Amino acid sequence: MQFSLGATQAGKPAVEQDVIILGTGPAGLAAAIYAARADRKPLVLAGPDLGGQVALTNAVENYPGFPESVGGGDLFSMFQKQAERFGAVLDFSTANEVDLTVHPFRILADTGEYHAKTLIAATGASPRRLGVPGEDTLLGKGVSYCATCDGAFFRGRNVLVVGGGDSALEEGIFLTRYVSQATIVHRRNELRAGTLLRERAEHNEKIHFLMETVVDEIRGEESVQSVAVHNVKTGKQDVLPVEGVFIFIGHEPNTAVFRGKLDMDPKGYIRIDDRMRTSVPGVFAAGEAADSVFRQIATSAGMGVAAAISAERWLEENK
Ligand SMILES: Cc1cc2nc3c(=O)[nH]c(=O)nc-3n(C[C@H](O)[C@H](O)[C@H](O)COP(=O)(O)OP(=O)(O)OC[C@H]3O[C@@H](n4cnc5c(N)ncnc54)[C@H](O)[C@@H]3O)c2cc1C
Repeated sequence: MQFSLGATQAGKPAVEQDVIILGTGPAGLAAAIYAARADRKPLVLAGPDLGGQVALTNAVENYPGFPESVGGGDLFSMFQKQAERFGAVLDFSTANEVDLTVHPFRILADTGEYHAKTLIAATGASPRRLGVPGEDTLLGKGVSYCATCDGAFFRGRNVLVVGGGDSALEEGIFLTRYVSQATIVHRRNELRAGTLLRERAEHNEKIHFLMETVVDEIRGEESVQSVAVHNVKTGKQDVLPVEGVFIFIGHEPNTAVFRGKLDMDPKGYIRIDDRMRTSVPGVFAAGEAADSVFRQIATSAGMGVAAAISAERWLEENK
């Protein structure tokens, strides 16, 4: 495979590393801490979102070791400091192409070309956005993509759950532990979720359904106060007074750079074994790039740790 090197990259000598990590979310930085402590001086490419999804989170209440909760940005800074303290180097660039058919692997990033004996893919995932006014400005102020993370902030409140698939129903049912009422808004007249989940949701007295309805705008100053919706059949508009909006319309792994190069499931999550090994020896994956199920800071960090330990063993065995 040939890289299409841009003029500014051409001629720049490639830097060879024992371990290159793509991503500065919990998976990437946890891997960096372990690889750095093993004296591998890992290079971590930050990617387009420094700190990953954690950096979008106001308060994290479920990461072990922080009984009083911790700000997402603060948690990221602590991960970063800990990794750098042991010798990890952060490079503020994104990997645009990788060649895994050669060894050392070749990575072409904004800042140049790198060669890696082992590569850890920790490029995470992104929740699919609704794309309506208010969604971005009220993120973390009532707008959420994670019931497990944020549900407890909505004790006794009314919330809207957007989506009609398994995630929307699963998370909606979970939210009823805390909220007074969860209204599930779905644009079709039938839910896509499986029968069991549908039955459980339909029998839950805290769950209400608003079918054939789409969200037009999320409103509020300091936090969410209401949501404007309309019925797709009748065109009838309405404003629903809610304090939370949980959006579950899909989740996309950031794995485009590995497409065709690593085995993936049909949704684009990298397939790994129980040691975080991918289909290419020497390439490991961790966190939400390879996990469509748990999607938590602690589980992603744990996978990052496992990937770094596996990479270390691989380096030892393939000296
Ligand atoms: C709003 C919100 C609130 C949340 N709250 C909580 C919570 O309270 N508790 C909890 O446990 N979980 C929470 N989560 C989930 C948690 O943030 C994720 O499970 C976790 O961040 C996933 O970690 P990750 O390292 O796999 O990926 P991410 O955090 O998604 O990080 C991916 C990293 O990869 C980088 N990257 C992407 N493409 C490239 C590339 N081509 N080259 C180099 N780098 C690349 C990105 O820049 C980013 O740094 C929340 C999620 C969201 C969206």
